Amino acid sequence: MLNTQTKQREDASAVVSREEMMRQWEMAGQNRQLLIHRMGHPPRAWVKTFGCQGNVADSEKIMGMLIDMGCEPALDEKQADIILYNTCAIRENAQVRLLSMVGELKRLKQANPNMIIGLCGCMMQQEAVVRQIRNSFPFVELIFGTHVLHRLPQLLNRLLCGEHRVVDCFEGEGRANPIAEHLPIRRTDGVQASLQIMYGCDNFCSYCIVPYVRGREVSREPDQILREAKEILAMGYKEILLLGQNVNSYGKGLAEPINFTELLRRIEALDGDFRIRFMTSHPKDCTRELIDLIAQSKKICHNIHLPVQSGSDRVLGQMNRRYTREHYLSLISYAKEKMPDVTFTTDIIVGFPGETYEDFLQTLSLCQEVRYQCMFTFIYSPRPGTRAASMPDPVPYKEKTKRLNELIAAQHQISEEDNRAREGCIERVLVEKPSEHHEGWMSGRCENGMIVTFPAEKVQPGDFVQVRITRGLRSEYEGELVK
Ligand code: SF4
Repeated sequence: MLNTQTKQREDASAVVSREEMMRQWEMAGQNRQLLIHRMGHPPRAWVKTFGCQGNVADSEKIMGMLIDMGCEPALDEKQADIILYNTCAIRENAQVRLLSMVGELKRLKQANPNMIIGLCGCMMQQEAVVRQIRNSFPFVELIFGTHVLHRLPQLLNRLLCGEHRVVDCFEGEGRANPIAEHLPIRRTDGVQASLQIMYGCDNFCSYCIVPYVRGREVSREPDQILREAKEILAMGYKEILLLGQNVNSYGKGLAEPINFTELLRRIEALDGDFRIRFMTSHPKDCTRELIDLIAQSKKICHNIHLPVQSGSDRVLGQMNRRYTREHYLSLISYAKEKMPDVTFTTDIIVGFPGETYEDFLQTLSLCQEVRYQCMFTFIYSPRPGTRAASMPDPVPYKEKTKRLNELIAAQHQISEEDNRAREGCIERVLVEKPSEHHEGWMSGRCENGMIVTFPAEKVQPGDFVQVRITRGLRSEYEGELVK
């Protein structure tokens, strides 16, 4: 049932209207027959996901809609009747890789001419890429952007009713993608479920393509988020991963005054023994109020992903990150003071245009001060259309690679030292699955985010157990069950 606030936002086009969703459900019903008619059997669908957790969550919705249209998940790409690639636009090499993979699909289409091949996701919001795909890959029949994901039944229906090719891509900058509630979701197996709390981004970091391809920031109504969280818990998941490009600014534009801390408080108050994680946090919007809540909470993990990107104020300014090194470090030390067991992970861009070796040393020293549990490091890659793409970039790629390796070596040393220091400690672990490396062992995740493997009998995925760490390796622990 729609509440008043959702209705108001429908009228303001922030939320897809009920009538529009009804139209899609109707189309989904028609497609069931049309797909069987075209394929000659219940269709098998394959959705391949590139990029971030947000895309993973979108793919779960795409697969949910396809199942709703009578599809079964294919075991692999070769036996699929519908192949959809959910693409990512964050890095340049992802684009090159994607285009070569799409080229490979031609052979599958020749072997099965009824097959439907489609591309969607962030890369399909870029005009030049869409033009290239239209010209080079005539066998790609369906191309759509992130703003019309909920319209998949209608787009597929047009194709099944005889249109040669259906393309529905971004209609203009400065818009927010409308929120579609109540889409069917085929969640991945496991103990963790993702829950998108907001979409898009308003920050326009100078290197980032996201605000252009995902649109402006828009938050879901808290009631809808709580409804979905309850569904996730009722399905037996033990960990909820809240997703958004900048979860710390959750709530902007909602009629009810609510911020991310309050949303977390409400999710935490739901019944059950479960964990909450979230990503991604922006340091400029991360508050002490939020850190205080995490410190007091029994359910929110003391493990925060806080992308710093650079340790140099000059580079942070060029990146339009809108915080300083000092502010960032003050957040870290406040969190460490409140939670001695807190761990941090981060993202770092090495070789941003004009980064000097002194700038890089600032990044290195910040990492040594914070002592991240792990970091996701990237060499800067220009994205056409972003401000940084037109900045002078005199640093040779070889030098950037050298800096990256220096940073990775420093991080390896920190990880090894800190993980060894945990030997003998007892961690509460959420059991995930049998270990891939040791027969009879299970693997799980500590609250601090580290993977731990341990010999185990009578332990199931989804159990919470106590594990004593016996060996701290570079990127995981080994341990033993505490009876
Ligand atoms: S916060 Fe910055 S880096 Fe993150 S998605 Fe938004 S613009 Fe991109």
